[in-house]
Amino acid sequence: MQSGMHTGKARKQRGSGKHHHGHSSGAAHGAARLTTELDVRTAVVRPQAMQTPVLVLNASYEPINICGAKRALVLVLKGVARTEEEQGAILHAARVRVAMPSVIRLLEYRRIPHQTRALSRKNILLRDRNCCQYCQVVLTAGELTLDHVIPRSRGGLSTWENLVACCPSCNRRKGNQMLHELTEMKLLREPKPFSLHTSRHIMRMIGSADPSWRRYLYFESGEAA
Ligand SMILES: [Zn+2]
Repeated sequence: MQSGMHTGKARKQRGSGKHHHGHSSGAAHGAARLTTELDVRTAVVRPQAMQTPVLVLNASYEPINICGAKRALVLVLKGVARTEEEQGAILHAARVRVAMPSVIRLLEYRRIPHQTRALSRKNILLRDRNCCQYCQVVLTAGELTLDHVIPRSRGGLSTWENLVACCPSCNRRKGNQMLHELTEMKLLREPKPFSLHTSRHIMRMIGSADPSWRRYLYFESGEAA
């Protein structure tokens, strides 16, 4: 089913950050429109299947990211990516049945600046391994909040260096105060951008549990498991 959702061919367009897929047939286009992000959210599927991490490959098959299955499915239904490996669960939404992806591949090559990952809640939680950077409690992504080390109200920016995973109680305790005003709160480590090295390491950590990821994660020479 998923390969019928788009008519795009795997193209490698270096340097192109835009996605055009205006040549979809009417039926495929209609189906993609039917299954909006909202449909996916309310669709019938085991909840854990929606949260399963999905490996995202560039058009060149290079692993570039991990996203949640819900986001991956939206990319597939929009025709931006195609499913390379399935996870077994089937999504029933609106009038479509789609196999939940385990690995997806972008149809257009995306240039990924070295050592820069997209700044997102998900990536910050991945970097911090779902661990509150103040009290070290490990929680699920849904339970954690993001804390601005220098509060926004005091000029703190939303950057890799100023955002950390934080449990609700530490977040309440810290409030709008600066760290140096709170002697009992310290950062576990200095927050840094999510490097390519870190993300590869995390992809492998997660991927080692999923055999369908392995062939994509270990193809680089000199980096055997
Ligand atoms: Zn905490």
